[in-house]
Formats: sequence, structure tokens, C-alpha cells
Amino acid sequence: MAIAADRLALPEKPRIFTVANQKGGVGKTTTTVNLAAALARGGARVLVIDLDPQGNASTALGIEHRAETPSVYDVLVNDAPVADIIQKSPEFEGLYCVPATIHLAGAEIELVSLVAREQRLRTPLEAFLSESEEPFHYVFIDCPPSLGLLTINAFVAAREVLIPIQCEYYALEGLSQLLNNIQLIEKHLNPRLSVSTILMTMYDSRTNLANQVVQDVREHFPEQVLDTVIPRSVRISEAPSYGQSVVSYDSGSPGSLSYLEAAAEISRRGAPE
Ligand code: ATP
Ligand code: MG
Repeated sequence: MAIAADRLALPEKPRIFTVANQKGGVGKTTTTVNLAAALARGGARVLVIDLDPQGNASTALGIEHRAETPSVYDVLVNDAPVADIIQKSPEFEGLYCVPATIHLAGAEIELVSLVAREQRLRTPLEAFLSESEEPFHYVFIDCPPSLGLLTINAFVAAREVLIPIQCEYYALEGLSQLLNNIQLIEKHLNPRLSVSTILMTMYDSRTNLANQVVQDVREHFPEQVLDTVIPRSVRISEAPSYGQSVVSYDSGSPGSLSYLEAAAEISRRGAPE
């Protein structure tokens, strides 16, 4: 295993990931927050965009997101510049967040009638990244568990898709629907989109089933699945209640080490061609 505190090689251009799976509770937010924290700890400048009205990523990064807080809703619906919304996470130097508030719950419907409704995130994000004085290295967009307009906006804004898959019996169910949707986006809205990364989450080494699921997914997606698997860990699940990533909450725990290793792997593999 790579040593946790290593500095990581930084990409030349910002790598923009959408973290998506329309299944609920598979570890999208946990993965977003902890990979972002791990990369920031490795020396990268990282932006997390919370695109889920639940605001869980904002919470876990210790970011203010009461209803009146300027949020990603203002970017999507009111044309607010990302620079006016962004907050610095207390977690690590170089870690930033565009929070989500409860207002985002209405955006799915409000977006329908807006001009260029699928480009509402891409345009302001590109502007922000190109104007930012200090360059960003990674952007992670945390999606809600659905394939609606919020998730579509994330797919259009990103270059890479990261799919967390829970090591459970129904893991592959619904995946073909997700992949079909991504193909449609590729064809019509974002030809550069690619599913670059799959991360197996909540792995329980005591069950044969978990091993079987990991094997199955690796057979289907040999290129995409990271070698690192995230174990089921109580430390991972309790960190958000302290407004922390597990990487800062208990950095030496197996859960933290696994996210640090996954981050190192993502950095080593580099961006897709
Ligand atoms: P949603 O679809 O609701 O947005 P999600 O896909 O973002 O969910 P998370 O919120 O990241 O999923 O995780 C679901 C629950 O499982 C949370 O309570 C989280 O703390 C817990 N969890 C995630 N990963 C692990 C893990 N490796 N070990 C133990 N618990 C975990
Ligand atoms: Mg979530």
C-alpha cells in the first residue's frame, strides 16, 4: 500500500469527475468527500460540488449550508458565478466546496424551462476554472440518487464518471440503465465523457458474496475498477457527524487508508486519453 502522506503527482489540467449511481446509499457522497480530502492532503487543489439537495457532502466537509447560504442552486438557476459561492473547507488546505441547500430540491423542476438547461453547470464551472488564479487539479460533483436534470448537468460538466458500487447482491442491477444514460449523454451532449473509474465500496471480507461481487464487476469492467476496495467501516460512517472526512477524523484507520490509496491510484492512472 502506498504511504498515506505522500505527495501526489498533479494533473496538468483539472480532472472533472461526476460521482454517480442512481441507486441510493451506495457510497457516492462518502466517496466524493473522502477522495477529495485524500487528494487535497496529497497536495492537490480540489473542488467538491454538492449537487444533492440533501447537502450531505457539504455537511461532511464542515461547510455552512443553511437555507440562506449562497449555493449551487444560485449557480444553476440565478447565473451566480462559482467564485461567489465557493467556500473553503476547514478539513484540508486546498479543499473547497460549492454547497447545496434545501433550495436545490426545487431546481430539478425549475431547470426544465431554462435556456440551455443541460449546460447550467458546465458553463459557469469552465469559466471559474479558467479564471481561477491558482489552478484547481480535481473537481468532484456529488450527484443525487436519480438520473434527472441535476445529474444530467453533472454529466455535461464532467470529463470523467466515477461510479461507486456497493459490494452487495444487487450491485449490477440498474447499472446498465446508468451506462445507457451515459451513452446518450455522450452522443448528444458531451462527446468527451468517459466512465474512467469504478470503486467498490462497503466491502465485507467475511462474506463470500462480497468477493463474488467484486470478481463479477472486475470481469465486466477490467479497465475501470480500481484495485483498491473500500472496506465497510464504522469510522467511515461516523466521520460525517463530526463534519469531517474519515481522512482527517481517523487518518490511520483502514477506511481512511483505503481512500488514500484509491486517491493515489486515481492520480497514478491519470486522465483518460
Ligand atoms: P444517496 O444516494 O442517499 O446520496 P450515497 O450513495 O451518497 O447515498 P453515502 O451517503 O455515501 O451514499 O452512504 C450511505 C450510508 O452508508 C451513509 O450512512 C454512510 O455513512 C454509509 N457508508 C458509506 N460508505 C461506508 C463504508 N465504507 N463503511 C460503512 N458505512 C459506509
Ligand atoms: Mg449522497
